[in-house]
Amino acid sequence: MRTIQMVDLKQQYLHIKEEVDAAIHEVLDSVSFINGKAVQDFGSSLASYLDVKHVIPCANGTDALQIAMMALDLQPGDEVITPSFTYIATTEVVALLKLKPVFVDVDPKTFCLDPVALEKSITSKTKAIVPVHLYGQAADMEAIMEIARKYNLYVIEDNAQAIGSDYIFRDGRKQKTGSIGTIGCTSFFPSKNLGCYGDGGAMCTNDDELAGKLRMIANHGQSKRYYHDVVGCNSRLDSIQAAVLNIKLPKLDAYIGARREAADHYDRAFAACNKITTPFRALNNKHVFHQYTLLLEGVDRNALNQFLADNQIPSMIYYPVPAHQQEMFASFGGSAYNLPVTDWLTERVISLPMHTELDQEQLEYISSKVLEFVNR
Ligand SMILES: *Cc1c(COP(=O)(O)O)cnc(C)c1O
Repeated sequence: MRTIQMVDLKQQYLHIKEEVDAAIHEVLDSVSFINGKAVQDFGSSLASYLDVKHVIPCANGTDALQIAMMALDLQPGDEVITPSFTYIATTEVVALLKLKPVFVDVDPKTFCLDPVALEKSITSKTKAIVPVHLYGQAADMEAIMEIARKYNLYVIEDNAQAIGSDYIFRDGRKQKTGSIGTIGCTSFFPSKNLGCYGDGGAMCTNDDELAGKLRMIANHGQSKRYYHDVVGCNSRLDSIQAAVLNIKLPKLDAYIGARREAADHYDRAFAACNKITTPFRALNNKHVFHQYTLLLEGVDRNALNQFLADNQIPSMIYYPVPAHQQEMFASFGGSAYNLPVTDWLTERVISLPMHTELDQEQLEYISSKVLEFVNR
């Protein structure tokens, strides 16, 4: 059996090596390393894939979130509502810009922002909501957008883990996650569902004026070369990364299909085990399984993690400390928050290997070892 990885980037690369190597060599030959044709091409391909008017590539997903908040002219002290049960980048940029992060609990089934808790946290200072489509599951965007309209708030979608997911509205309308809010942000970190071979990210929006601002801020606030209208930063997707993404984007749906098949295998294996809750399959979205995360009840999670490691199976805790418990947010009253679902999940989640290259033998071995431990 091939060695089991959390994410098997090597095996995936071997399948597309010729195409990727040729695309990278084309950039090398062009010596157009910054903002070259590959970047332009990728921006328009991603815009048509997401069915959104504008895609603005940038250096990474964290920058995408930061630039989005800068473009919305949020002022120091403005409140931005985010889940605490997320990767640190979502909340970190809020504090970096001197805005006030307000942490809200998540839904115990989807692990995404709970719309009821969200509405209760809105104050006269609230300016924006940042729903996170965690593990590849879409947040309840219909409810969130209704609340945003009611209170006149911006919505910045953190789509770093869910690119390619479809959200289905009550009237049957389908939209890609990341294209629903005011601005959608994503990351092309190598292990993401659409990953490059270094850092990368993008913002998308249907608002022409906002698109111009995002583009300007990502490029030193300049409207014209050497004329700087606003304070910006330097955040670019480089041409080599764009070349890799141009090869991988057309394969994204197939990659998602492979992840969903692996998830189906795990779901079937664990269906009869009452100590394991498998990922919730909401009717209103297509889970793209950036992670396959189990919720354990009555199982020593850390001992399972060790048992799997002893059997050459990696597993991860995403994330061992929720944002509101992080030292960096102590001055924002982080530990004073009462987020029972977040704390409950933090103690009980474990993520199994999930990627495009898992085969039947590996999936059977992983599931049987999990069950061996849980049932003993
Ligand atoms: C990966 C990730 C980010 C940040 O992306 P980078 O490209 O690593 O900066 C932000 N939010 C979430 C939820 C992520 O998973």
